[in-house]
Amino acid sequence: MTTEAPSRTFDIPQERRLVTELPGPRSRELQARRLASVSRGAGTLANIYMARGSGAVLEDVDGNRLIDLGCGIGVTTIGHAHPAVQAAVAEQASQLTHTLFTVTPYENYVRVAEQLARITPGDFEKHSILVNSGAEAVENAAKIARRYTGRRALVVLDHAFHGRTNMTMAMTYRPWPEREGMGPFPGEIYSVPISYPFRDGLSGAEAAERTIDYIETHVGPRDVAAFFAEPIQGDGGIVIPAPGYFERIAQYCRDNGIVFVADEIQAGFARTGAWFSIEHHGVVPDLITSAKGIAGGMPLAAVTGRAEIMDAVQPGGVGGTFGGNPVSTAAALAVIDLIEREDLIGEAQRVERALVERIGGWTEKYDTVGEVRGKGAMFGVELVEPGTRRPNPALLKHVLKHATEHGVIPLDAGSWDSVLRLLPSVVISEALIDDAAGVLEEALESFHGVGEPGIVPTS
Ligand SMILES: *Cc1c(COP(=O)(O)O)cnc(C)c1O
Repeated sequence: MTTEAPSRTFDIPQERRLVTELPGPRSRELQARRLASVSRGAGTLANIYMARGSGAVLEDVDGNRLIDLGCGIGVTTIGHAHPAVQAAVAEQASQLTHTLFTVTPYENYVRVAEQLARITPGDFEKHSILVNSGAEAVENAAKIARRYTGRRALVVLDHAFHGRTNMTMAMTYRPWPEREGMGPFPGEIYSVPISYPFRDGLSGAEAAERTIDYIETHVGPRDVAAFFAEPIQGDGGIVIPAPGYFERIAQYCRDNGIVFVADEIQAGFARTGAWFSIEHHGVVPDLITSAKGIAGGMPLAAVTGRAEIMDAVQPGGVGGTFGGNPVSTAAALAVIDLIEREDLIGEAQRVERALVERIGGWTEKYDTVGEVRGKGAMFGVELVEPGTRRPNPALLKHVLKHATEHGVIPLDAGSWDSVLRLLPSVVISEALIDDAAGVLEEALESFHGVGEPGIVPTS
């Protein structure tokens, strides 16, 4: 059982090193320019402007080195600026940057579709389309499922995040900040209760019966085109449904002719110690959406699934100008090759062991930590008011502020803004995990505020 990070050499030493306060003077200058030119709607977790990245470390414009526990939001899973991805991008950019696949095609698009068919679960013929963003993938999956089934309704889970287009905003659970004031939204989208063991205490089978009962009584299974699920929820707070939950749901979908869609945009592509996180639940979905980690930071997304479903759409019914761009697909091919050649799935499992060992005991150590949960390099720390299960968003705010001021970049999550989310690269070293965890512990220990009163979760 290895506990060492892979023997890659990194352009930036894998260490936290602060040479100015954070944000530093050059970041502050850029922030002033940004306020004069960039929409306030593009909010930021920390106004620290980055110049370079390598492995699990980001270097800012003032020369500070920060530990990246976010990877954007789970994008640079293989580490920043991998030389193999740089080379693939440079080579492709020198040959061909665009034709539009639906005008005149090129091999990279086909190669990525071949690889997706190979690495996704399911022993049947699979076809793919490539698009630009996660939301676009989810929206296309919805279109395809409706076309295939001839049905209207889309079922999504409580606490889901599926994107920011009009359709995917409506599929996303919480109103603030993603949705407020931006309707009207499309109809026929039904949010149903999930299995959230920390909050509902139900077994997988019990939670699945609750979900199914809701579909039966609110929607009617014969009108449901697709059931969308993140097998491990990302923005919802690293919610991992109890064992057996998805098995029962997938069976229900099969029995009722409902297309089961696994949204693997955040949890897929090696992040959880498997190619796709649905594998942890022992279920084969009909369709899978991929994005974030697929191309090392280049924009690319995909819908992959049963050929007969994917082919139900008429030619021209799906597509888009930039989808499956030659350069992004070259990056994706390099990423898939690296995941296999450098056993990055095994590396994600190594990160899981290291995180469990380093932060798994926080529930005993801190009465404000309700649960530490995760798979691979995808962890959530559920922050609560002392000794209760009530969400503690004030503490999360404090932790994020303290961490980013001290050179560690974690993420927030959860419908009540109270889950500390960790999505480091799978190449992060034990030493960096240890150092970052120490900063987060200082943050947990230096909080003396009180939580927002009055929010009592019901699920
Ligand atoms: C990020 C995300 C999306 C949306 O992806 P974009 O590329 O931001 O449009 C959809 N689903 C999940 C699970 C995500 O994490």
